[in-house]
Amino acid sequence: MAGKSDELVFAPLGGVGEIGMNLAIYGFGDAQRRKWIAVDLGVSFGGDDLPGIDLIMPDIRFLVEEHRNLLGLVLTHAHEDHFGAVLDLWPRLKIPVYATPFTAALLEAKRQSEPGAPEIPVTIVPLGGRFSLGPFDIELVSMAHSIPESNGLIIRTKLGTVLHTGDWKIDPTPVLGPPTDEAKLRSLGNEGCLALVGDSTNAVREGRSPSEMEVAKTLAELIRTAPGRVGVTTFASHVGRLRSVARAAAACDREVVLVGRSMERIAQVARETGYLEDIRDFRSADVFGYLPPEKVVALCTGSQGEARAALARIAEDDHPEVSFSSGDRVIFSSRAIPGNEKAVMRVINGLVARGVEVITDRDHLVHVSGHPRRAELQDMIGWVRPHILIPAHGETLHMAEHAALARRAGVPKVITCRDGDLVRLAPQPGIVDELPAGRLYKDGSLLIGAQERTVADRRRLGFAGIVSVALTLSDKGELVTGPRVELTGIPDADAAGAAMLQLAHNSVLEAFKSMPKPRRRDPDAVAEALRRAVRSAIGTAWKKKPICHVHVLTI
Ligand SMILES: [Zn+2]
Ligand SMILES: [Zn+2]
Repeated sequence: MAGKSDELVFAPLGGVGEIGMNLAIYGFGDAQRRKWIAVDLGVSFGGDDLPGIDLIMPDIRFLVEEHRNLLGLVLTHAHEDHFGAVLDLWPRLKIPVYATPFTAALLEAKRQSEPGAPEIPVTIVPLGGRFSLGPFDIELVSMAHSIPESNGLIIRTKLGTVLHTGDWKIDPTPVLGPPTDEAKLRSLGNEGCLALVGDSTNAVREGRSPSEMEVAKTLAELIRTAPGRVGVTTFASHVGRLRSVARAAAACDREVVLVGRSMERIAQVARETGYLEDIRDFRSADVFGYLPPEKVVALCTGSQGEARAALARIAEDDHPEVSFSSGDRVIFSSRAIPGNEKAVMRVINGLVARGVEVITDRDHLVHVSGHPRRAELQDMIGWVRPHILIPAHGETLHMAEHAALARRAGVPKVITCRDGDLVRLAPQPGIVDELPAGRLYKDGSLLIGAQERTVADRRRLGFAGIVSVALTLSDKGELVTGPRVELTGIPDADAAGAAMLQLAHNSVLEAFKSMPKPRRRDPDAVAEALRRAVRSAIGTAWKKKPICHVHVLTI
């Protein structure tokens, strides 16, 4: 039996109110002595608003504090938004990790490709497997998605059972792996489900997501009818899609060439884990040039327009091994993740400029999402019949739509929360507290807090440039050397054609001369006066204010 003061709680520390960097925690016990499990530890990607930042991760301060009570990390699947932060953040937690074979193999492959990455002990759980972590009895339920082995978690406790859906869709013909396990979900409904914490990504879309099989058929047709070379780009981890391309290629006697490191890595992991057993070996990019145009399909990385990936380089005719030209066909079997549209357009334009025919999901069914649309969300609610529904994995709009849908479907209690909210699921459900939550940025090889000034400074620098002034004073406050002025990222001349450097230099000298002599002995006062003067002079000429650094040395 559960103790009198025991509670079952849930808190999202990432992934709620935003797409990416998923991290959910569940706690059980007395408020003072809870045991926790974490589900997923993902990243999201920095955009133009975060100069120099590639990856964003959840701030795990709370878990670090509680790491003695943290029983383990369960990974639902191997998408970056679910497991991309494990290598960076695991050393701060050093907890047991649980994953299915493909996820574990991909984590290991990633570790080997990153020098200095920690060795992480992973307990491999079979598909549909069940295991216990303290007060939590966890059972996996297979879900169709856009990567092998996506798992929902049925988390049973003495105070009730939670379904944490992970990423899923309903696809009766998923091309690879089992379809979403409807029978297990229905029996969970019969057993009784306290709360469903679920994927809201496509809650704004009516109907059902088309099947992977439909995409396979379209790809087969497009590859069969292609007059010359074929290029296909997709998310490398979408092994089902890679299989569809491989089968379509084999049907018209074309060889599949892998272009891009992540394609090669995933193909190798997929082979090791048995997901490519009946597929002819892929060829490496160096044979591309030797194959006749009608005998080749190049599977390329770069579906998101990433500048360093294979397809962007091919589009610029800057790839050492692979090129496309007039008469060739390139298929984007993907969709641009919001924020990447411009980069993708750049690649498309580059290809079109070389006479390549480009096919996207705007004109053909060459991509489907791996997330449930409204009719699928309704099916899930109908199967599981939860008492509480908590929308997760979505931006505010997606979660609000998911919440409205759940209410219409008759779910008795719908709780919309934000990152850091502590939600009590039982007894008496509701948001009861707030936990420390936030973001970490991966900056080069370092992790920095989002609240630190680093990135804000960098943004200012990017917007307005920098002025540096250096001078030396004697102990009597006389100018010994300088001022030396340097401008970075500032226009050379003002509107009248006067040199900005001269303008800055004059303003510094005038400001110095106008200071009363005794004040000139105080280096800090000098620095401050000169800083104001130069900033204001450039500000007047430019209508933008740069960052100013004034270095005053005394001898
Ligand atoms: Zn996913
Ligand atoms: Zn996801």
